[in-house]
Amino acid sequence: MAKSDPVAVVGAGPVGLCLALALAQQDVAVVLVEAMNDGNFLDQVPRAGSNHPTTLEFFDRIGLYEKMEPRGLIAPKFHYWDRQDNALIAEFDHVLLKHDTRFPYVLQCERIKIIEEALKMAKAHPNIDVRLLTTFTSFEQTADGVTAQVTNAAGEEETIAGRYIVSCEGARSIVRKDLGIEFEGFTYPDRTLNIEVAYDFRKHGYAERNYISDPDEWSNLFHWKGPPDRWRVHFPTKPEEEEEALTVPAALQARLQGFLPTGRDYEICGCNLYTVHQRVAQKFRGGRAILAGDSAHVNSPIGAMGMNSGVHDAFNLADKLVRILRGEADDAELDRYERQRRHVAVKHTQAQTIRNKRLLQERDPAVRRRNHDELRRTAEDPELARKFLLRTSLIESLREAEQIA
Ligand SMILES: Cc1cc2nc3c(=O)[nH]c(=O)nc-3n(C[C@H](O)[C@H](O)[C@H](O)COP(=O)(O)OP(=O)(O)OC[C@H]3O[C@@H](n4cnc5c(N)ncnc54)[C@H](O)[C@@H]3O)c2cc1C
Repeated sequence: MAKSDPVAVVGAGPVGLCLALALAQQDVAVVLVEAMNDGNFLDQVPRAGSNHPTTLEFFDRIGLYEKMEPRGLIAPKFHYWDRQDNALIAEFDHVLLKHDTRFPYVLQCERIKIIEEALKMAKAHPNIDVRLLTTFTSFEQTADGVTAQVTNAAGEEETIAGRYIVSCEGARSIVRKDLGIEFEGFTYPDRTLNIEVAYDFRKHGYAERNYISDPDEWSNLFHWKGPPDRWRVHFPTKPEEEEEALTVPAALQARLQGFLPTGRDYEICGCNLYTVHQRVAQKFRGGRAILAGDSAHVNSPIGAMGMNSGVHDAFNLADKLVRILRGEADDAELDRYERQRRHVAVKHTQAQTIRNKRLLQERDPAVRRRNHDELRRTAEDPELARKFLLRTSLIESLREAEQIA
């Protein structure tokens, strides 16, 4: 394959890095453009980190899994709790998926560690030209190729030519805006408060991953490998609450003590407040420009589906681009990418994350009881529990996408 015709990948987040590595390992030349540099790349707020079994299979395919496992925590089980009764509702164990996947567990390994390891691999790969501190600003396309305008590390305007351009720029994708593609959906008025704390919640019966229902103070509780060993607790906020009032140390302590009183201050390692969007791009492709990951879809983190489904986009797209560039398929393959991955974004990721939030914050006592009873019944029946896990782990979404012509 001609090394002179690279694929331009914009954004070295988890999606851009996986795409670049998957292409490069199949002998496709890639230019990977990233606005951040070695000085600030690893200085980003904590975000995604629960990696589902299918995503681990993809990471394994490019040799990334073995670098992540020692830096993460293997979490086969997750819990649903009722905060009002302080009671465990249901426990799900991925061991039920042992015939469906080689990785019957979630790996708790944060985005920052994934991109650190993947960036090292990308820099070492001869087929990837990694351009850090290079900001993509616009692009043009013809029938044969694309040209991307960037401001490079020297502060100069530069044009990068490629066969295709893939936007892995995150939710604010310039490519999506330049193509005039609608980002359909909505934004929740309430923001989510994320507090990182060094405290071992396991001694109170919690699993490594927990979803906690409460009409006012629903939360998520996740464990991350240190040092220092940390847990992340998510809380809802009211739209009118000011960031400063929510994030002063006394307010954070009150929030945590309200969740689990310990009688002494929690050791808080960090906090951030974020806005949650539920949006899917109306199209994933405009000619030779393609959207993947958060550029194409964003959702609430309840259920850990954003990064996972973005990584699934990357591998789906890589396989298709390789076939096209080898002359084994034509551009229509890219329409199939859109049909498959947009279907997953709408019918699985969006539907499920919206449902997850609704479940946790349900106010009607009768509906809460019904929901909790159903979770209990599902967890107690191995066949129902397996079906449930096939959905939550995104295995079902991949199998369904495979059926789309
Ligand atoms: C608090 C929180 C918790 C989350 N938890 C989970 C979870 O547990 N599991 C999960 O699956 N998802 C989770 N998510 C979602 C997840 O973080 C995102 O879905 C994921 O990071 C998207 O990856 P990406 O590569 O598409 O984009 P990003 O990770 O946003 O990366 C985009 C990259 O593009 C670069 N870039 C942007 N614009 C330009 C430009 N013009 N020029 C050059 N470079 C540019 C950026 O610097 C960045 O490096 C969470 C999100 C939040 C906010």
